[in-house]
Amino acid sequence: MPQKTKYIFVTGGVTSSLGKGIISSSLAKLLQSRGYSVTIQKLDPYINVDPGTLNPYEHGECFVTEDGAETDLDLGHYERFLNVHTTQANNVTTGRIYQSVINKERRGEYLGKTVQVIPHITDEIKRRIKLVGTKQKLDVVITEIGGTVGDIESLPYIEAVRQLKYELGPTNSAFIHLTLVPYLAASGELKTKPTQHSVKILLENGIQPDVLVLRTEHPLTEDIRRKVALFCNVNLNAVIESIDVSTIYEVPLLMLKEKLDITILQKLDLPVGPTPELKAWKQFIAKLKDSKSTVKVGLVGKYIELPDAYKSIMEALIHAGASNQCKVDITPIHSEEIDLGNVAQKLEGMNGILVAPGFGHRGIEGKILAVQHARENKIPFFGICLGMQCSVIEFSRNVLGFADANSTEMTRNTAHPVIDLMEDQKGISDKGGTMRLGAYPCSLAEGSNAFAAYKVSEIQERHRHRYELNNAFLDALQAKGMKATGINPDTGLVEIIEIPEHPWFVGVQFHPEYKSTVVNPHPLFVNFIKAVKNGVSSK
Ligand code: GLN
Repeated sequence: MPQKTKYIFVTGGVTSSLGKGIISSSLAKLLQSRGYSVTIQKLDPYINVDPGTLNPYEHGECFVTEDGAETDLDLGHYERFLNVHTTQANNVTTGRIYQSVINKERRGEYLGKTVQVIPHITDEIKRRIKLVGTKQKLDVVITEIGGTVGDIESLPYIEAVRQLKYELGPTNSAFIHLTLVPYLAASGELKTKPTQHSVKILLENGIQPDVLVLRTEHPLTEDIRRKVALFCNVNLNAVIESIDVSTIYEVPLLMLKEKLDITILQKLDLPVGPTPELKAWKQFIAKLKDSKSTVKVGLVGKYIELPDAYKSIMEALIHAGASNQCKVDITPIHSEEIDLGNVAQKLEGMNGILVAPGFGHRGIEGKILAVQHARENKIPFFGICLGMQCSVIEFSRNVLGFADANSTEMTRNTAHPVIDLMEDQKGISDKGGTMRLGAYPCSLAEGSNAFAAYKVSEIQERHRHRYELNNAFLDALQAKGMKATGINPDTGLVEIIEIPEHPWFVGVQFHPEYKSTVVNPHPLFVNFIKAVKNGVSSK
């Protein structure tokens, strides 16, 4: 194993959304399976200190780590592929970099100096890149730079990485550039010019990439590979094809076939060792592809127009499907479009209903109607965060008879605030990083669906919320059949509610989706899909 940490930098060119996160995760998976300890870091060029204040429509889901960092959704891919936890240090934004430099300046740490992008901002970027590897004592750190080369906002990152590459020396870092090779249907040709231009931009910035990963809809011919190698100054074996596949989980196998890991290990002067078997990974893909039965799950949310807003939930459902040997057909349903007259029709044919997390009152009544439909028709129901809160509101209105029951997030004028702001949130006005975030413990009631899923009585799950079930109403809810089956042992906060009379009705205040990985599908998702599957076969 290497004496010191080696660094791999990943940039993207030509267009955004080429899948840098998936390529980084796939390479990390391959290096991990060859015995190297590895993590991935994402550098985001926007000025928000973290993505926690972003609307999901802007950048998709906000992923939450064990240590309570609100991060880019790519960290979700890293965790799902690698089955290791990431931390705040794994996601750094321009806002965070500037914030620390400005704080230092105010403390007088640069006293007498003019504080500038170069060297102060670039030094802070370099410090943050190195911090992950040294702190966690890793063999390899893969640092992915968000955005597209050529963007003004990425420039300090590119310059920082250029300096690092030089400082670390030739065998201690490798540079991967991901581009697109478009296919022109009219002439039936793959085009390499955008890749050449993209590499030119890197060269203008002083960087010669070591490896090019070419995203393509059609296989690259030998000719194309040679052309790219010749015009972009890379070895032929460093031109890697990344062809479209039906599931992202196939990408590590594709990269193995293309020998991306070997090319990188050789560049880093690290032993290659035997080819990894990836047995568990292949079994997972086989189950994904060969599953004969299909179940339909309605995903009721308010950010449905952008599927990335529910990335971790969708992936957790896929993991749970594979583990139950069935395909999960996810139908996104916009909660704003659900009303009393159409709820049955909107949810028709759904074997299971998942009501998603969210913020603010828009679309909330549709979510509540969806819960009622699932509860009354005994359709397996899974409510996450706001989804759980909606199930408490629904039960309070329709079973306890509190017609005005609501969350104080939606209305302050209710005699029945069944969901209310947490006590320690009451004095907080700042919005960034101030929610109840990260892992907290929860004790499970024996005999509950939650206990049956986890098979232990103490768990830790990740959170991101300001409101909670108002314990003043707990007795009333329990008396009528909605039970608190998961409680925070330190604070008494209700973490899980269930309706034992129902085939499977579970609402959780936390976000189980963040912890589902390929190797460890999340037990609640697995049992939800199991209940959905049972419901289908008993019909
Ligand atoms: N808006 C709710 C709260 O703040 C739910 C949050 C969520 O779904 N993540 O408590």
